[in-house]
Amino acid sequence: MEGSVGQTVPVEQEFVLASISELSSPSSSYTAASSSSAVARFYADSGVAELRFYRQPESITVVNVDLQTAQLFKLSNVNSVCMFEASDTGKEKLYSRGVALQFRNEADSNAFHCAFEKRKKDLVDQGTNLPNGELSTSRSKFDDKIESSSAKMYFHYYGQLLHQQNMLQDYVRTGTYYAAVIENRADFTGRVVVDVGAGSGILSLFAAQAGAKHVYAVEASEMAEYARKLIAGNPALSQRITVVKGKVEEAELPEKADILISEPMGTLLVNERMLESYVIARDRFLVPNGKMFPTIGRIHMAPFSDEYLFVEIANKALFWQQQNYYGVDLTPLHGSAFHGYFSQPVVDAFDPRLLVAPSISHVIDFTKIKEEELYEIDVPLRFIASVGTRVHGLACWFDVLFNGSTVQRWLTTAPGAPTTHWYQLRCVLSQPLYVMAGQEITGRLNMIAHNAQSYTIHLTLSAKMWGPAAEQGGILQTSSCKLDLKEPYYRMSQPQAYAIAPDQQPHQLIPTQDIPIHSQDFEEPELLPKPSSSGAQLNVLMDNA
Ligand code: SAH
Repeated sequence: MEGSVGQTVPVEQEFVLASISELSSPSSSYTAASSSSAVARFYADSGVAELRFYRQPESITVVNVDLQTAQLFKLSNVNSVCMFEASDTGKEKLYSRGVALQFRNEADSNAFHCAFEKRKKDLVDQGTNLPNGELSTSRSKFDDKIESSSAKMYFHYYGQLLHQQNMLQDYVRTGTYYAAVIENRADFTGRVVVDVGAGSGILSLFAAQAGAKHVYAVEASEMAEYARKLIAGNPALSQRITVVKGKVEEAELPEKADILISEPMGTLLVNERMLESYVIARDRFLVPNGKMFPTIGRIHMAPFSDEYLFVEIANKALFWQQQNYYGVDLTPLHGSAFHGYFSQPVVDAFDPRLLVAPSISHVIDFTKIKEEELYEIDVPLRFIASVGTRVHGLACWFDVLFNGSTVQRWLTTAPGAPTTHWYQLRCVLSQPLYVMAGQEITGRLNMIAHNAQSYTIHLTLSAKMWGPAAEQGGILQTSSCKLDLKEPYYRMSQPQAYAIAPDQQPHQLIPTQDIPIHSQDFEEPELLPKPSSSGAQLNVLMDNA
């Protein structure tokens, strides 16, 4: 949502310093041995573009610098001086002040100088303060697209260690990233890496383990502080990692990256709209033909039949059919409640035997796609039913490829493959379709991005006439639904995610009809796992703990 004219947007970026001392009073040196003895933060939220230095770990403000008057001089590869105008409180008379800055390494120094110059340039571009006294900061692409309340909640969520832990404890996810990086050392050794949305910094640490020359870990949430702590606690790697606190849409880095690493995948691949940030980071930071880990993503789709799930959702609205709820007739709201429950995509791990046709896939090439192409994703659907059954909707999952020079590795969230924290996603139709084996099912999956970092999904499925009437080309049944990907129904509390209803015949083994992508290492997920205690159940236990 657009902000009103002249409204300021807090833009904050942060850098760690080895030490800071005032030029005029050498006695007030804040030097400390710790690598986090001082931080520099850029602000534009008070109407004046400011640079503030804080002493750490107490977070005491040492100096406020008005960027309008500030100048930065480089004395050596890690030493700089910042000069600016100051006045005594309440007095008009200005005088010059200076602070000597010492950086932990050259990369940190370059990153700080780069951000400083960018802020100064922004000030010149914008002219001086607006008549109302507020500074018009240049809104980043992120701010233009995303409602600020959504972004605030989003980064608050990722700022908490428990949510990062949840991702780290998805061993399928983290283990696959680790393997993809370590098996492809050649892509990292001696290279400059940018970790897009670094979170705890784990992927930056993996890249450093694989011999990266330098890693810039860009993270917008408060998690950046924890990443710094974690990285500092791994001294063998920390000298080659710089944490930059800020959005990838806004951060300035001193050099281009040879390779990007990121984990931008949400439910159904695209939820959270972080793929767009990954693509923006590519355009801003990556050298031409640089590598991206992951390289491509695929959304897989197939119709499914699940009588239990359908009845469960339909029954949720039964409450509103009561005509005498403490003397009140609830039925006027039954239709709305029924509609509401069917507008929630279902997230859980399901048995792949529920699929009624081979899956199709939609490929997103992260190295080529334009950011705007992710605003609307439109997938035509065409399946041939393998069994005669009732189709209750469309099941979706995704995988991503790490196209390494040495090994190509896939991370899959397919049903039947080891369960990940993404599970799978199902769009359930309130009007199921009846199909016969061999019958064609057509339709469309249309996803439109919205400013709350997710998508509105429109699904239509149609089953063509069966038998002699099909010759006349008529459509027998069509069913559609509209869902909000932001409001899923997490169904993991099902005690047995893989249990098959006694009256429900497991469907025959269905091969996928995916576009083959050559890989030394990739195996299609097994489509008929033994019903067993799965990772999903473990996660349920842990979630419920
Ligand atoms: N890379 C970590 C965290 C992945 S979760 C890991 O693999 O464990 C995604 C992270 O990206 C979150 O911490 C989130 O705060 C951050 N993020 C999302 N959008 C961002 C953006 N536009 N700029 C910077 N960080 C972003």
